[in-house]
Formats: sequence, C-alpha cells, structure tokens
Amino acid sequence: MTKHIFITGGVISGLGKGITSASLACLLKARGYRVAMQKFDPYLNVDPGTMSPYQHGEVYVTDDGTETDLDLGHYERFAGVTCNHDSNYTSGRIYSAVISREREGGYLGATVQMIPHITDEIKHAIQKAAKDDVDIVMTEIGGTAGDIESLPFLEAVRQFKNEAGEGNAIVIHLTLVPYIKSAGELKTKPSQQSVSLLHNIGLFPDVLICRTERDMGEEHRRKLSLFCNVPRELVIEEQDVKHSIYEVPQELADRKLDEKVLQLLGLPVGVSHLENWCALVKRQLTATRRCRIALVGKYTGLRDAYKSIFESFTHVGMALSANVDCDMVEAEELEGDSSRLDEYDGVLVTGGFGARGVEGKIAALHEARVRGIPCLGICLGMQCMVIEFARNVLNLKNANSTEFDETTPYPVIHLMDSQLGVSQKGGTMRLGAYPCALVAGTRSAALYGKTEVSERHRHRFELNNAYRQALEEGGMKIAGMSPDRSLVEIVEISDAPFYVGCQFHPEFKSRPFSPHPLFMGLVEAALRHQEK
Ligand code: GLN
Repeated sequence: MTKHIFITGGVISGLGKGITSASLACLLKARGYRVAMQKFDPYLNVDPGTMSPYQHGEVYVTDDGTETDLDLGHYERFAGVTCNHDSNYTSGRIYSAVISREREGGYLGATVQMIPHITDEIKHAIQKAAKDDVDIVMTEIGGTAGDIESLPFLEAVRQFKNEAGEGNAIVIHLTLVPYIKSAGELKTKPSQQSVSLLHNIGLFPDVLICRTERDMGEEHRRKLSLFCNVPRELVIEEQDVKHSIYEVPQELADRKLDEKVLQLLGLPVGVSHLENWCALVKRQLTATRRCRIALVGKYTGLRDAYKSIFESFTHVGMALSANVDCDMVEAEELEGDSSRLDEYDGVLVTGGFGARGVEGKIAALHEARVRGIPCLGICLGMQCMVIEFARNVLNLKNANSTEFDETTPYPVIHLMDSQLGVSQKGGTMRLGAYPCALVAGTRSAALYGKTEVSERHRHRFELNNAYRQALEEGGMKIAGMSPDRSLVEIVEISDAPFYVGCQFHPEFKSRPFSPHPLFMGLVEAALRHQEK
C-alpha cells in the first residue's frame, strides 16, 4: 500500500518548504524507496503559465508540457522524480474541474459544495499520484497555515489522513523559530500559534520541522513538544545551511528525519546510500576555479525568476569543480552601451515574453559575438541571436521577430501557420518535450555526444525557415532541428569560442548528476576565457 506524507507550512512563506520536501524525498530515495511528489497551490489561476515571474518565480515546464510551480524543479533535481500533469494542482484547476462537471450534470441534482465536492476532487488528485509503482507520495501544500485559500486543501488532508488510517499518512509541519536579536532569544510562540491554527481545523501534525538560524537546544524543543502536541524526538530543527541548498539533505539526515518518518509510516529504515550526493556537494564546496557569467534578462529583481538557470550553473560547477559566479544584468540597461559585459567570462541571454528588454538583449549578443565572449541564448535569447545576426552580419536592416514588430521587412522569427490567428494567451504554446536531431559535425552535437535528444519547450514563435539558407551562408549554422527538419532547434557560430542558441529550455533538464551539455559548453568556454 502506498504511504502518504503531507507537508504544510506555517508562520511565513518562503521557508523553503519545496527544498525541505525535495530533500526528504532525496533521503527516502537514498534508502531505496520509490517516491512521487506533488504540490497543491492555493491560488485561483488554473496554472502558473499566465503569471509574471515576479509573482511566484519561474514557470517550470515538465516533459508532458505542464506549466508548473518552480518547486517541481526542486523535486526533479533533488529526488530524480519525473513530474507531470498530476504533480501540480491549483485551486483554480480543482474548482474548474468541479464546476465543469456540475455544468455537465455530473452531480445528479446535488447541491455542489466545498465539502464534499471540492475536497473529494482534491483527495482524488492525491490518490491519483499513488500509482502501483510508488511507495511513498509526498504532497506539499502551498501557502501558509491560516490562509483562507488553503483551507480546502488542509481539510482534504484531514479527511485523507483519517481515512488512510494510523501509520499510512503523516503530516509534517514546517515552521519558523525566529531569533530575536534584542531579546537574544529564539521564540517558539509563532510556531505554537501556527500549529494551533491546524489543530482548530482538526489537523494534527506528526512532525515539526523548525527552521532556525541557531541551535534550538532542549528547552525550546521541550516547549514546542508540549504546546504543539508533537513528541519531543519529532521536533526537528533545520538550521540554515552555510553555502548551498544541496547541503539540506545531509543536514536533515544528520537529524535522522528520514529514519523517523519511515518509522512513523511503519516502513523498514534500511540502509542509506547518500555517499554520491555528499561527494557531489563536497565538490561544490571545495571548488577552486572560478568564472563570471552575466545573466542578461528582464526579471532581474527576483533570482527565483531564473531559478533553474542558476541551478544549472551549480550543477556544472559541481561537475567541473568550479565556482560559477552569476550576476543578473538588466537587459534594458544595455541598450545604449553594452560594454560592461566585457568584464565577464560568459554571457547567458534568457528567454522571455514581450518587447521590453529585447533591444538590450540584442545589444548584449552583439557585444558577446564581436568580442568573442562565450555566449548561450535560451529561447527568446536564441531568437535575439538570429535577429542580431540578420541585422549586423546579413545586413537585413530592421530584421525582427513578428512578436515585436509585425511589419518588419525581415521577419526572421515568426509564428508558424498553425499559430496564426490564435488570440488566447493561456495554453497556446509549444510546450514540453520534443525531440531534436543534432547535425553531425557541429559543436552542439559534440557536446551532447548523441544524434537525437529530447528538450523542453515553452514558446510560440519559431525561426523563419525562409532565412535558413542565408543564415547558414553568413556563418550561423543550424545545429539542431526537429527530426522532420521543419523547425530549427539550435543555432551556433562554429568558429566562435562558444556562441550557441537553443529554442528550448535546457535549464529544465539539468540535474546535479547530469549537468546539461550546453551549460557545460558555456562554462568550459568561460573558464578558458577567464584563464586566457
Ligand atoms: N516570446 C518568445 C516566444 O514565444 C520566446 C519565449 C521564451 O523565451 N520562453 O516564442
């Protein structure tokens, strides 16, 4: 029988519930368990696809083309799980399923209500993850205890736990034990109050994980145990890690979180094989080489907007024992003068939507190309590479993407016929994994070491095939295409130190143990650039 772990959060948002959940999954996997992970987000958008990255950070895309919360990236990276359509539900998606069924007459005359109809829909989503080949389902409930929006999810968890029976489902509550400087003390009251909010709705956490910046000590543990009704040994502290989020699994293993959770679920503790993970983290912490990368984007006020890109650099850093220092550079600020990029060893131009920052990205790419700074363009970054090349090498004045200039004389990036006339913004993109055939003899093919790969997409516009020949004749090589050759996936300038653009998002496929080949290529070139 599949067991269930629910993770709720208290006191404040941003406690790292996603990383804590993913780290526990990593530990359970290291003990041989098959884990599935899912997240419930209480907001009313049907998915995060239409939201600005400034709202909840990057939109993470899964193989099956679901636009999801960025925590699913942590799940895939830490626990090696593959997420899909069943891994992320929002209130909007749950409500819309119930309302559609009501309109179709699916409730046979009943009054449709929060309980049982919405909660049943949530429980159904939890159950769906409990496939035959899964030992443990971990379900993270977004938001903070006390939020109005998350109440139906917490109520569904209460019911689910009750129905699953003793030892089959547990609730872990992640909370904050703040250090108050003026008093020189850690405070347990916020945690007590947040657990009491859960008690009020009939949900009794089995484990308390306390985020603290200092050693909590026995006294605080005793107090939390007493007031929160959690046995003392299940009040676990999670101190801030010093250098890297990849240290969190080790930190939680030191507190025996995985062992205690398995005991609660009545599962054998077995032997943990965390050696490879620890070795990887050690390599990250002892790296000696260093290079500087400029990440040119337009959501530079929030690092979470480019989460998977930063993580991809970390993975490469682990593989190459190098520190990749990545600065965010606001694209718009490069519009007049992009010379500040000269101090960097590499440039990454990010994806994005809308015209703001596009000319800055084009300026950045021009600088990187003419100065020979290693450069990777992702999605819109690749499209801007093509625009810059068309304008400045092929002399196609005012070449552009029809996304930004519908009347450009040279629409080097445009909508495919199948996309023309589509006005709806949500759910109209090329999304998820598509195969890409690599062209023999290119740098990209050499980096991948394969002839066909699968990469994740999230875009509407494509390179206009009418310009392929001109681009190739000018020196921009088509290095990857859809297997039927109808869509360009990768372009590169083969004799540059490194100048590659990809229509897909390689950052969604990078993993700690298998860094992405294109990021490897960029960082290797940046290290060479730095050492020159
Ligand atoms: N706006 C571009 C498109 O829709 C690029 C999208 C992206 O960078 N993810 O094609």
